[in-house]
Amino acid sequence: MNCISIPDSEVVPMDEIAAGVRGLRIAFVNVFAIMHPDRSWTLIDAGLPFTASAIQNWTKKFNETPPNSILLTHGHFDHASAARDLADAWNLLIYAHPLEAPYLKGQKEYPAPNFAAGGGAMSLLSPLYPRGPVDLGNRLRLFSGEGISTLAELPGWEILHTPGHTPGHVSFFRSRDRCLIAGDAFCTTKPGSFFEAAITQPPELHEPPAYFTSDREAARKSVQLLSELNAMVVAPGHGQPLRGASLPIKLRQLVRCFDEGSGPDKKKTA
Ligand SMILES: [Zn+2]
Ligand SMILES: [Zn+2]
Repeated sequence: MNCISIPDSEVVPMDEIAAGVRGLRIAFVNVFAIMHPDRSWTLIDAGLPFTASAIQNWTKKFNETPPNSILLTHGHFDHASAARDLADAWNLLIYAHPLEAPYLKGQKEYPAPNFAAGGGAMSLLSPLYPRGPVDLGNRLRLFSGEGISTLAELPGWEILHTPGHTPGHVSFFRSRDRCLIAGDAFCTTKPGSFFEAAITQPPELHEPPAYFTSDREAARKSVQLLSELNAMVVAPGHGQPLRGASLPIKLRQLVRCFDEGSGPDKKKTA
């Protein structure tokens, strides 16, 4: 398996990932809150079905006011399912990349999981996972599209189109302290063992979950792009956040793992 070991000393607590950035893990997926200098804040991703109240209770610990918006890395069920409930409760908008829109407007389902790609228990259970379509209705707004964009609600951050895991997957990067919120562009835990990963699995860099990644070559290019940011802090959708000067080198190693085709999903992109 293509993984890059990370020393435990590079794991950072979810409550203080970087200045103004904290996270909450619900079951096996993370959401993040980003505080801004004017005390407004933004929620990144919106978790599993029926987790809206857990997310709301968490945010009350550090801010009594609702966020200024919800931004989605992508529309998979484990990142977008509570978005509509939260947006209705808080009366705000949800932003995503235009290429995710069909999956978030109830128009299209994501491709069926690729069982041949392997992935342990998560893969075996994956037929049970909802693939959408999620319908965010008139709450949904779209980022401006290809390449790098910005949004007034997320000052100081760039929104990078990092497709492959899904067509409209995005990552968020703050150049001031080189903090990267990576969504599912890569994981810091074994994709096959998300359920036990957070507690018992050592931190490791991995490709995104192969059985849900629709375009592995695009996913490789996206990890390459992210490796060139020289991120000092990375906060993934699955696994623990990490901080370390060697993270860019390790991300480049992860790109080479794609190049070597050591992933179980190699033939799919041929
Ligand atoms: Zn995903
Ligand atoms: Zn995910």
